[in-house]
Amino acid sequence: MLPTGIIPLARSVESDSLAALKNEITIAGGGLAGLSLGIALQSHGVAVTLHEASAYPRHRVCGEFISGVSDETLETLGIEDCLADATQLQNASWNDHVGRLTEMQAPGRGISRWKLDERLQRRFVSLGGTLVTNSRIAPASGVIWAAGRPRQPSPWLGLKCHASNLELTHDLEMFTSSGGYIGLAKIEDDMVNICGLFKTRPARGAKGSALLLTMLRESSLHALADRLEKADMDESSFCGVAGFQLGKQEGSAFCIGDAASMIPPFTGNGMSMAFESAECALQPALDYASGRKSWLEASTTSTASQASRFKRRLLSAMILHRLLMNPAALRITSVLARRRCLPFQTLFHLVR
Ligand SMILES: Cc1cc2nc3c(=O)[nH]c(=O)nc-3n(C[C@H](O)[C@H](O)[C@H](O)COP(=O)(O)OP(=O)(O)OC[C@H]3O[C@@H](n4cnc5c(N)ncnc54)[C@H](O)[C@@H]3O)c2cc1C
Repeated sequence: MLPTGIIPLARSVESDSLAALKNEITIAGGGLAGLSLGIALQSHGVAVTLHEASAYPRHRVCGEFISGVSDETLETLGIEDCLADATQLQNASWNDHVGRLTEMQAPGRGISRWKLDERLQRRFVSLGGTLVTNSRIAPASGVIWAAGRPRQPSPWLGLKCHASNLELTHDLEMFTSSGGYIGLAKIEDDMVNICGLFKTRPARGAKGSALLLTMLRESSLHALADRLEKADMDESSFCGVAGFQLGKQEGSAFCIGDAASMIPPFTGNGMSMAFESAECALQPALDYASGRKSWLEASTTSTASQASRFKRRLLSAMILHRLLMNPAALRITSVLARRRCLPFQTLFHLVR
């Protein structure tokens, strides 16, 4: 079922066609949120100019495990085919430095951001959207802010690298430690994406996958580091990010994706939220484009729609994230998990 007010693409282009279009739309940020909203708006006949600070294709710090987004959301945005050949992921394991804590069902899709973002930008351009790469713009009225996590002081360091020649026991392997958590997910071409969020500062001098391995060893995940040392790491895919806070962001008025709120990465739900927030913004943006709503009304409606959709999962994820990063809580969690006293499957659904 479509969210209230959203008109299916085929019908709207025919019957609505936004004949009375008054406003063009500018989007800042060509990640998943900005591109998917841009594609949906262009498909509805709205002229969109999208500014992206970098260029395509590019690697991004991301676990590349997409979970939680419904087919209906992808169809509403008109991007379902861009994910059609993503690797279908079914099962997952949770582990600590000692060994396996649990196995669970974790349905999702694995696809590199290198491939996905490139596909989405091509789709946007093929629909007539104006894409301006290497263009960093400032927030302003009339600009939908999809510029990702705002820069701010934080203890977090995100690292990612692709590897081949790496056998996984499950489609997704998660490892927790009080120094951070890391996920290994199958993506395309028998590659594995390795992505972690760490609390400690990087060791001076270490670069690329060596830095990733250093962070794993500092987090007491030695067995995993030994395993990764034997794999073929693709150094060209290595990237890192620091200087961001998790949870609700204080951003521009009309914002979507990480710019609005960043769910802790262990959930594997951030990309889904990027798509879902684009869906929440679609009807308000159409109303603004047609002159039915002012900019303030459109941004207020979009913000309220995202707040009600994401409130529960964000709160649950922030609480679980604190527990995961607290050494005492993590020890208790490990004991309970080994005694099969933790409802991992229920928690998985709670954060999506
Ligand atoms: C360590 C880590 C692991 C993660 N793992 C997963 C996972 O496994 N599954 C999952 O679903 N999510 C995961 N996420 C979260 C996911 O990556 C994000 O939620 C998602 O990328 C958000 O998409 P977005 O479009 O909002 O932002 P982004 O993808 O960050 O895109 C924002 C874009 O805006 C551009 N930009 C920035 N400033 C400007 C400006 N002023 N003007 C123009 N352009 C600008 C940037 O260059 C960028 O391309 C992870 C995040 C981290 C940090």
